Amino acid sequence: MIKLMTDFFVEKPELTAKIESYTTAHYALVTTYSENFGISEADAWGILEGLQKKVNEAEYIHVEAPRPIKKVLQLSNDEINMLRTMIDYFSANPKMSPAGSFTAKRSESIIEAYQWFFGSSNGNGEVARENFQNLMEKLQTSMSIRLETLAPIVASPNPYEAVLKLLDIAAKKLNLDPGMHEMLKRPMRTMIVNIPVVMDGGGIQVFTGYRVQYNDVLGPTKGGIRYHPDLTLDEVIALSAWMTLKTAVTGLPLGGGKGGIRCSPKEMSPRELEALTRGYARAMARFIGPLYDVPAPDVYTDSQTMAWIMDEYSEMVGYNAFGVVTGKPIAVGGSLGRNEATSRGLMYTVIEAAKHLGMELKDAKVAVQGYGNVGFHAAKLLHELGCKIIAVSDSRGGIYNAKGLDPEKVMEYKNEAGSVLGYKDCDSVTNEGILELECDILVPAALENQITRANADKIRAKIVAEGANGPTTPDADEILFRNGVFVIPDILANSGGVIVSYFEQVQNQMNYYWTEDDVRTKLQSTIVGAFKDVLIVAQQYNVNMRIAAYMNAIKRVADAMFLRKNKGFVPVVNE
Ligand code: NAD
Repeated sequence: MIKLMTDFFVEKPELTAKIESYTTAHYALVTTYSENFGISEADAWGILEGLQKKVNEAEYIHVEAPRPIKKVLQLSNDEINMLRTMIDYFSANPKMSPAGSFTAKRSESIIEAYQWFFGSSNGNGEVARENFQNLMEKLQTSMSIRLETLAPIVASPNPYEAVLKLLDIAAKKLNLDPGMHEMLKRPMRTMIVNIPVVMDGGGIQVFTGYRVQYNDVLGPTKGGIRYHPDLTLDEVIALSAWMTLKTAVTGLPLGGGKGGIRCSPKEMSPRELEALTRGYARAMARFIGPLYDVPAPDVYTDSQTMAWIMDEYSEMVGYNAFGVVTGKPIAVGGSLGRNEATSRGLMYTVIEAAKHLGMELKDAKVAVQGYGNVGFHAAKLLHELGCKIIAVSDSRGGIYNAKGLDPEKVMEYKNEAGSVLGYKDCDSVTNEGILELECDILVPAALENQITRANADKIRAKIVAEGANGPTTPDADEILFRNGVFVIPDILANSGGVIVSYFEQVQNQMNYYWTEDDVRTKLQSTIVGAFKDVLIVAQQYNVNMRIAAYMNAIKRVADAMFLRKNKGFVPVVNE
């Protein structure tokens, strides 16, 4: 029904003809709907009334964009009000717009009614007009529309905007030089390439790939390569900004970068993926290298992908350049301990947080959202410390057992059954529910935007250790801080991965390889040092750990910039 209304406002002919013959918008909509969908007019009327009620009560409305973006976009409050005005226009007794006003230019009559009801009487309606255009665009292209009265559906906010918001807060606390702040808001270099691949079926398909080198003040840029059908340049830029902060907060001599290809890896054969990866490596060869920019695996890329890139690059430069990527298989320059590094680093930060809070880890109750590489290893390592893993989940849902789970056995079961769901002696719990369980430590290790303004007040854990990137929104952060929940932010909690990637680079350059114990000891001292530095700033400035981590990271980048360029920048001075 919403689609039909939208068609009317973008002047598609179907309803127009009806309106002209029926004289009221309401009757035209009801009869057209009834004829198109083969239901009675009375039922169509009922649907319109029901829709109006739902939209009036909805707190949040989301639309799903079509492929290749396919993201869930949240309508702004203004757009929701515009939608309410639009539905009112078609109701039996319009309250906002006079019945029959369709004789005027349609969009203008709605904009006028909207301004009258929701807007200010000032201005010439440009803002309302823009809201109207945005709403029409979203509704026309949407694949589905979801209404929610209680809690927001997880939308896909632009992650780059989230980074900029946090950057602003931290920069203000640091009295950061405005020029430096401007520099940090933008990526240093962005590359877009198009890679033709001969597909198994015989045709050629062209894929778009990105590499963003955000900032290299502290050293060669470093960051993963992501293969995903919904990948956008903004997402890659945000991830590269996070990498800049992650390497800086841990004190690594590296900058931040990120890359990716917009493709559907699950629908491609291994040969197609190899051809695509080698094409990407050739296209990027002049911009990456052990001394410039060192990629690593990310979502839907793995050690095999890295081996292909390393091989293609080595063929081009004429020698074995193992150091061009990290996350490689052990046999071709990989580091021992890389697989579990992110989770091991997370465990070290949890130990430090528990010490700080005076909390006993023996029998501490742990819930883990996401049972992939990070979630599983985190559960396993915390279990080895004596914690009780009471709940874990994957994309299909979660399991709960108050007496505790054996992480390895759950993984064996998941490998066979395809999910943790159905594991013996457990109750089931939803992915939203797992976050709200009564527990001591919560490890979100799946997706971004899991802890939001809507559920932050319900988090009962004492420590939230962010295995995933961006699981908590900035508004939720403030609520958690106010409620005394100790959040170990992603750029610190999951930095073990990049720390051991850095160790891999070092080993490649020395051509001398360390034992797993060496790797663990060095990882521990690096991440524990970073944790302590962040905690000091959090206490000194009375800010949450995320802002403190951003402050430390930004200060390191800004100080290095000052030392390198000397003029033009005011150094950051701690109070
Ligand atoms: P993965 O693909 O191995 O695991 C992801 C897990 O999340 C899977 O078990 C999947 O079933 C589950 N999942 C998907 N949707 C879910 C949902 N809606 N609710 C609950 N679970 C869901 O990925 P990973 O390497 O473990 O990465 C997980 C997160 O950690 C990502 O945010 C990633 O960016 C971040 N991260 C990973 C590393 C690393 O070294 N692997 C390093 C830093 C950060």
